[in-house]
Amino acid sequence: MRAFFTAICIGLEGCDRMTPNTGLDNFERKTKLGVHTQSEFRIEGVVMDTVVESKATLKTPAYAAKSAKSPLAPFTIERRTPHPHDVLIDILYCGVRHSDIHQTRDEWGGSIFPMVPGHEIIGKVVDVGTHVSKWKKGDIVGVGCFVDSDRTCVACRAGEEQLCEGGMTLTYNGYERDGKTPTYGGYSTRITVDENYMLRIPKGIPLERAAPLLCAGITTYSPLKHFGLKPGNKVAVVGLGGLGHMGVKFGHALGAHVTVLSHSPGKRRDALKLGADDFIATKDEDIFIENAARFDFILDTVSAKHDYNAYLNLLHYDGIMVLVGVPEEPSPLSAPSLIMKRRTLAGSLIGGIRETQEMLDFCAQHGVAADVEVISIDKINEAYERMLKGDVRYRFVIDLASLK
Ligand code: NAP
Repeated sequence: MRAFFTAICIGLEGCDRMTPNTGLDNFERKTKLGVHTQSEFRIEGVVMDTVVESKATLKTPAYAAKSAKSPLAPFTIERRTPHPHDVLIDILYCGVRHSDIHQTRDEWGGSIFPMVPGHEIIGKVVDVGTHVSKWKKGDIVGVGCFVDSDRTCVACRAGEEQLCEGGMTLTYNGYERDGKTPTYGGYSTRITVDENYMLRIPKGIPLERAAPLLCAGITTYSPLKHFGLKPGNKVAVVGLGGLGHMGVKFGHALGAHVTVLSHSPGKRRDALKLGADDFIATKDEDIFIENAARFDFILDTVSAKHDYNAYLNLLHYDGIMVLVGVPEEPSPLSAPSLIMKRRTLAGSLIGGIRETQEMLDFCAQHGVAADVEVISIDKINEAYERMLKGDVRYRFVIDLASLK
């Protein structure tokens, strides 16, 4: 109970704040002590906990985009010194995702600049706050797409923090729970994170190959599990990029018959090497007739506008198509594509902390990891251009030693 109230109060500013949804006389009283703030957490007048938060910060080298039109360039950010429930992480590797490009170029709107992207973070714990119980110095840990959530809503209580009703706190391009402190991502040498929003990286997964699991991995693992992919099911993975190549690996490891649908005919050999049983080049439109009603499940990872109806028609009756790719432009949907064979069209967003840990443990058990090309941070702008041309097998990962 005490830990729960401490947890929901940490990070909030202001004095004598009522804790939400309890109906009790619970509040936090803050007293400023130079660079420290002392907070008392009370329930019905009784002091349940007292914590001292430092206001000191750590100057941290990073790479940032200053606007939607500027390339990424060296930049210095401030990281908070660990609060009682925080962990300070020395970042070793950070994956580079297509969404990093979407957001640094403001393709989805609402980008916050300067922006330090990166939310496939692997690092080593170098310091822990006074109340941290789960982690110790030297632990190898991961941080994914979010670093906080409201912790009280139905989704958070169900361990689906990514669907938080109060909105998850994005690892970058977001604001902390105070609504005003910008969050900065993993294109930097260290990060301070609440102990409840970190993952344990199991032994046996090479660290640079573990980084993409924190986004590409969970984004493809979660829908396959949630929508009940079964051994022997025929699954099509549409788009063989960062997400798609993980979809193939998970589909194979889960015992499904995996087909890759790709607009790049040159990826056939790679697809089969990654574990696919079949490959279909989608440039030839006849394939949509030849393969009608062939699949039980389609995982669509494509980042560009395409015709959903054409792909839905490849589903058997009662088949499920799950969208994880986020094209910039909307695409029309024709009702008969769903109605005529009682098909389901769904979407899926990353995964919660519990399921992400399950996915990492699954990877260690089944020898699954991302295929990566490690780069130094000064190659990041070139890497973005190469990603846009599909010239990466299959994820760039930044070695942060290059920024230290
Ligand atoms: P990526 O590595 O660039 O892969 C995207 C793939 O889409 C490409 O490899 C390509 O595969 C296919 N593609 C690209 N342009 C195409 C076109 N014009 N027509 C048809 N296919 C095309 O990107 P990623 O990192 O895998 O991310 C994929 C998408 O998922 C992005 O939109 C990203 O923002 C989104 N995403 C969503 C979530 C979530 O939680 N839902 C999480 C992470 C990322 P082929 O060459 O094989 O056709």
